[in-house]
Amino acid sequence: MKKSRFSPETYIQGILNGDRMLLSRAITLVESTLEEDQTLAGQVMEGILPFSGNSIRIGITGVPGVGKSTFIEKFGGLIVESNHKLAVLAVDPSSQQSHGSILGDKTRMESLAADKRAYIRPSPAGKALGGVSAKTREAMLLCEAAGFDVILIETVGVGQSETAVRGMVDFFLLLMLAGAGDELQGIKKGIIEMCDALVINKADGSNLEAAKLAMRDYANALHLFQAKESGWSPRVMTCSGLEGRGLAKIWNVVEEYRNVMQLNGFWQQNRQSQRIQWFDDHIRYLLESKFYQNPGVKLRLSEVLPGVQSGNLSPIKQAEELVQGFLNRAK
Ligand code: GDP
Repeated sequence: MKKSRFSPETYIQGILNGDRMLLSRAITLVESTLEEDQTLAGQVMEGILPFSGNSIRIGITGVPGVGKSTFIEKFGGLIVESNHKLAVLAVDPSSQQSHGSILGDKTRMESLAADKRAYIRPSPAGKALGGVSAKTREAMLLCEAAGFDVILIETVGVGQSETAVRGMVDFFLLLMLAGAGDELQGIKKGIIEMCDALVINKADGSNLEAAKLAMRDYANALHLFQAKESGWSPRVMTCSGLEGRGLAKIWNVVEEYRNVMQLNGFWQQNRQSQRIQWFDDHIRYLLESKFYQNPGVKLRLSEVLPGVQSGNLSPIKQAEELVQGFLNRAK
C-alpha cells in the first residue's frame, strides 16, 4: 500500500522541530526511485539545506566482525552522555539484494536504538553510480536539520562505499583487529591512507598485548604515508568496544581534530570541496538516471545488448550511438 505524502512544508517544519517520524519519512522519500517522491524529496532538501551543516560528521569503517556495532553502541552512548544528539547512518551494500539487511538488524545497537537522544537508520547503498553519495549525504543533512549534532556513518570496509563516505565526513575512523594482517582483513591500503584515526579494536583479555603490538606496527607504517593536506597525523589507538575502554580517548581525539582543523581552516576548506564533490556527483547521478530511464535508450539497449554480449557488436560504437541518440532526443 502506498503511503500518503505530506506537503514539503509539513516535512520541513516537522524535521526542524525534531519530529523523528517525519525525518524517517523524508529519508525514505530521498531513497525512493519514484519520480514524484524524488520531486518532493528535492523540495524538502531545498527547505532544510540552510539548517544543515552543524554537526561533526564521522565515518566509521571496518570489516564484518571487527566489532563496529558493539563499538558504535558504546561510543554512541558516550557521545549522547556528553550532551550530544547522535544520528547513526549505516550504509549497507547488501541491502539491495537481501532486503532484510545485516545492518538493519534490530538487535544491533539495542540500547542506543532505544535512546531518545540517538537515531539509527540503515541506508541502502544503491547500485547506481553515486548511490551512496546521493542518498547517504541527503539523509545526513536531514538529520542535521532535525538537530543531530554528531553523525556517524558506518560502512563495511570492503567495498567502494568508503571513498564515497570519506568524501562526505569530517573525520574518518578505521577499526582494525590485531594480528590479522591488512590483506586478511580485506582492508585496502587506500582505506588506511584515508583515515584520521586507526583503532585496533578488541584490545581486551588475551588480545591486549597483540593489540598493543599492532598499534606500534601501524603507527610506524602510517609514518611512511604522505602527509595529509590537513596537516593532521593520523592517530593510532587501541580500544575495546565490548568493555568500553579507550572510547573516551577516541572522542577526545575527534574533538581535538575539530578544534585544530577549525583553527587552521581545513574544516571549512574540506566542507567546501565536499560541496563541489556533491554538486559533481549529483550531476553524474542525474545524467545517469535520466539516461537509463529514457524509453528510447531502454529500447535500443535491449536491441543491442545480445550483440554486444556475443561480441558481434562493438561496445565502443554502440555506447557512442546510444549516448548520441539520447542527446539528439534531448535537443
Ligand atoms: P561488526 O560486524 O563489525 O558490526 O561486529 P560486531 O559488533 O557484531 O561484533 C562481532 C563479534 O565480535 C561479536 O561476537 C562481538 O561480541 C565481538 N566483539 C565486538 N567488540 C568486541 C571487543 O571489543 N572485544 C571482544 N573481545 N569482542 C568483541
